[in-house]
Amino acid sequence: MPDYLSRDDVEEKAASMLRKYGRETAKKVSPPVEVDLIGEMLCGLRWEYDLIENESTLAALYPESQIVTLNELFADRFDKISGFDRFTKGHEIGHWVLHVKNLGGSTPSLDEGSKKERVFCRDGSDDWTERQADWFATGLLMPEPHLRGAVTHYDQMTWSTVTGLSEDFNVSKEAMKVRLQRLDLAYIDENSGRIYRSRGESEGQQTLF
Ligand SMILES: [Zn+2]
Repeated sequence: MPDYLSRDDVEEKAASMLRKYGRETAKKVSPPVEVDLIGEMLCGLRWEYDLIENESTLAALYPESQIVTLNELFADRFDKISGFDRFTKGHEIGHWVLHVKNLGGSTPSLDEGSKKERVFCRDGSDDWTERQADWFATGLLMPEPHLRGAVTHYDQMTWSTVTGLSEDFNVSKEAMKVRLQRLDLAYIDENSGRIYRSRGESEGQQTLF
């Protein structure tokens, strides 16, 4: 049983990977994060699009060949939703780091036998390894310090701000919305469907009516 990694542990691993990428490329890491290159340079992964004949499988990671296959059955979604393929790649890098390679750790997360196993990623699965891989992708593509900084460039938190931020970071609007809520940078009023910087701001707005 691998050690349980908390969300903070996982985010720290993503942040550490970004720092390493910055050092190796001698560049300041800024959004949109170059997820393709990070996977290639730091993990030795190769990206491919191919048909996986299982309509719930989004992507597969083959540890021995270090190939990640994104399922062509989802080509429409990869095409239409900006950042969806990038998030999926970040998620696969997460599996590589957390569940296959355990970069920087002295003990591998999985035993030798299971290293050879393919990782199949199902759409909407809430298995704990899937959640950890999502946390990793979130931390990699929307690093907290960068996002906190980026938010200050917008006067207000509105839906067009979410769109602007999702373009800045090249992630889907849905992923950005979830990240902003998670970091308490946005609050959605369920009744009106409006988005605010905080619950306090939403209550202040409502007393005006
Ligand atoms: Zn997965």
